[in-house]
Amino acid sequence: MPTATTAPDQEKHPSPAADIAVIGGGPAGLLAAQHLAEAGYRVRVYEAQGTVGRKFLVAGHGGFNLTNAEPTSAFETRYGARQASFAQFLTHFSPADLRQWVASLGLETFVGTSGRVFPTAEYKPAQLLRAWLDRLHTLGVEINVRHRWLGFTAGGLRLHHESAGQELEVRPAAVVLALGGASWAKTGSDGHWVTAFAALGVAHAPFAPANCGAEVAWSTFFRTKVGRAPLKNIALGSGSQIVRGEVMLTEYGLEGTPAYALTPALRAALAAGPPALLHLNLKPDLTPEQLLHRLQKPRGGKSLAAFLEQTLRLGHPVATLLRELAPTAATAEPAVLAHLLQHLPVPVTGLRPLEEAISTAGGVAWDELDEHLMLRRRPGTFVAGEMLDWEAPTGGYLLQGCFSTGAWAARGVQQWLRTHQP
Ligand SMILES: Cc1cc2nc3c(=O)[nH]c(=O)nc-3n(C[C@H](O)[C@H](O)[C@H](O)COP(=O)(O)OP(=O)(O)OC[C@H]3O[C@@H](n4cnc5c(N)ncnc54)[C@H](O)[C@@H]3O)c2cc1C
Repeated sequence: MPTATTAPDQEKHPSPAADIAVIGGGPAGLLAAQHLAEAGYRVRVYEAQGTVGRKFLVAGHGGFNLTNAEPTSAFETRYGARQASFAQFLTHFSPADLRQWVASLGLETFVGTSGRVFPTAEYKPAQLLRAWLDRLHTLGVEINVRHRWLGFTAGGLRLHHESAGQELEVRPAAVVLALGGASWAKTGSDGHWVTAFAALGVAHAPFAPANCGAEVAWSTFFRTKVGRAPLKNIALGSGSQIVRGEVMLTEYGLEGTPAYALTPALRAALAAGPPALLHLNLKPDLTPEQLLHRLQKPRGGKSLAAFLEQTLRLGHPVATLLRELAPTAATAEPAVLAHLLQHLPVPVTGLRPLEEAISTAGGVAWDELDEHLMLRRRPGTFVAGEMLDWEAPTGGYLLQGCFSTGAWAARGVQQWLRTHQP
């Protein structure tokens, strides 16, 4: 394979400002690129796929929840063990900054239920990405698609230009790596970067699925009878954590926001030995007394399904679910039935595979980074986005985390170059 020492198009655009390479054209990388270009640097983005922002567009299909309007004090807590670091990142590039950034691209956002922020209905995700790419083009950011980063050289980066079948080395003044997590590999985030990091001696926490479905070993009867069915307005708990919302019963188990939010708790419980128990409350708005009162109404000859429908407006999957998980429910006393309806144990046998997960837990170990998100073992190389070891629930916290770390890495690059630029 021929080897070039510089990218062929690099020589066409000489610039007095330092060259920065951003590897990975997802939201973290592209925001870092924008901030650095706005600061006057010459920025080149290298992206392995034929187009940038593929996972960003996939997020768009699922509602495109860009961020959340909840107060910063609550927002920060969504990053769990990384709260202190994210408090700093969110101060530098806040949810309000994100909305302002969308507005600066000529699009509008609105606050939906539970504070979730979306672009207004008339805007498609592709429009936001197109407006963003136009802005980057205006700023002079060069986007090189089909350029796969292979690893580090002594003073630069090894890339493979996939269309030309050519390997090349670039030697930028600073680098931002934003290669994503390891779910939905078809969007480009395949997690293969761990090999190059390991060669440098950089440790990473193992990848694990986050915000993913929970597996339950339903009987064939249940699978056939229920298939996919929503359970609306429920509460799902694991240990002391309880999440309200809607779950979907699927042929493999459960999915939906409450199940996703409980992934870290489930992961920990499963590590101690499956099954991990979830507690399902099918009537969280009723007190135990109110529920019992309704269940004490005469049932007559009605089936459990008809009785639950009539007294509690609980639809058909609930009776089948009770029979599946608590076979004695059909004939249980009102007090026992009331307890089951608010504390139904759901045995989870596993989590859905990483490939299907909305996000990835694990990634570059925090100890490997300084407070500017620079690799201690590789000064001048910064890391941003989902490839870092953090996780957060759905609700806009993932994209906000990626944008905020991208902005923070760009800030780190500028500070570093002020003292280290040749
Ligand atoms: C189905 C789904 C729905 C989602 N919905 C939401 C939502 O509504 N709200 C929300 O906040 N989040 C959502 N997310 C999560 C969000 O999309 C991700 O957290 C976010 O895209 C991660 O951004 P990133 O820039 O870190 O990485 P990515 O977006 O994964 O981008 C990384 C880029 O790096 C490139 N790359 C990888 N390796 C190389 C290499 N060796 N060389 C060059 N380039 C490389 C990849 O091709 C990719 O383009 C969703 C995710 C999924 C899968």
